[in-house]
Amino acid sequence: MHQYTNTKKAIELSNRFWDVTTEAGLANIVSRNLNDGFHQVISSEKSFLNMSSYSYLGLDSHPDILRAAADAVINTGSLNTSISRIRVQFDILQRAEAALADLVDAQVLTTPSCAAAAAASLPLLASGALTDGIAPVMVFDKNAHFCLNMMKPICADEAEVQTISHNDLNALEDLCKSGRRIAYVADGVYSTGGQAPVRELLQLQHKYGLFLFFDEAHGFSTLGRHGRGLVLETMGEINDRTLIVTSLNKGFGASGGAIFLGRREDRLRHDLATRFGGPITWSQRINTAGLGAIIASAGIHRSALLGQLQAQLQDKVRLFDELIDSESRGDGLPIRFISIGSEENTVLYAKSLFEQGFYTSPIFFPVIAKGRAGLRIMVRANMQDDDIRRFASALNQLKNDHE
Ligand SMILES: *Cc1c(COP(=O)(O)O)cnc(C)c1O
Repeated sequence: MHQYTNTKKAIELSNRFWDVTTEAGLANIVSRNLNDGFHQVISSEKSFLNMSSYSYLGLDSHPDILRAAADAVINTGSLNTSISRIRVQFDILQRAEAALADLVDAQVLTTPSCAAAAAASLPLLASGALTDGIAPVMVFDKNAHFCLNMMKPICADEAEVQTISHNDLNALEDLCKSGRRIAYVADGVYSTGGQAPVRELLQLQHKYGLFLFFDEAHGFSTLGRHGRGLVLETMGEINDRTLIVTSLNKGFGASGGAIFLGRREDRLRHDLATRFGGPITWSQRINTAGLGAIIASAGIHRSALLGQLQAQLQDKVRLFDELIDSESRGDGLPIRFISIGSEENTVLYAKSLFEQGFYTSPIFFPVIAKGRAGLRIMVRANMQDDDIRRFASALNQLKNDHE
């Protein structure tokens, strides 16, 4: 029992902090959208700027994407096919997957979320179906996202599962040297800051045939040509020993998730995933609104606008880093974890910032180790320099007051 998951312990340790967060008015906020990350609380009419939004390029409110979502529903005449996609599907599903495939030059399968992409693909990997019929040892990075970790018990029923320290290349290479087939499961860009050593991992792949599984929920859109992400940008092109899952709910500004299954001409894995990919074999798929949004967002990703938004994001990240100290300062990624320590103090910081018009997400166990709580802040291309400056002075003032 509890070799891989312990929900009971998570509830015991962190439910109280959710209560504290909620009492401080920092959870269950019901708002109306004022665009560009601004919201207005319905009950108090108070407006605030969301400093913890995943919409790194501001595409969540792009008019072309919204229009395409609405048109897709009307033109298709339905929100869902209401039958498993492997049996009957609307052509807009194929067009959305083709648009994504064009973008990343890989075989793409869409899923209702990144978590569903992980649920569909990790058991396939553990089965050996992607590694010549031989189940690989599944080696998870300790900090891999929760949606990957929660698949460990299922993977462990078909393959050996191990967990190694964060970014521990030596431990991974030792396992590779054993001569057994190894699959490494990690985030490309980590949701609480930092990234995988992708170049070094690719060297291990080249040397030992290591299979690599990456979660690119944060790298996709924000990095690389056409927003293809950290991993593909480093690789140059996908290969058949690499599998990437991503969210389309975050920087991409649409809906759902996707699996980049391998080389574009390789239909076999697409068929395997739609036949044996767990949740996606039932009635789940991205609805037609989401599919319309994906096609429009893919168009934006292929246009010159994407590079401009990425450059704008980098400018904002640089300004943020000039003004605010953080562990990952200078790494060019848009995620900043502001370490505070105690869970109580973290909520106090967030409460004070909210009173000054800035929403920030307090992050505590099990997302981060106990007693290492802090605020997760995400910089966006559509932030105003003045807002970043005002936020920085509010945060720095709080830090000074507490020292
Ligand atoms: C948000 C997140 C996910 C989950 O994405 P969904 O599309 O909401 O399922 C997966 N991995 C990482 C690293 C994330 O931050």
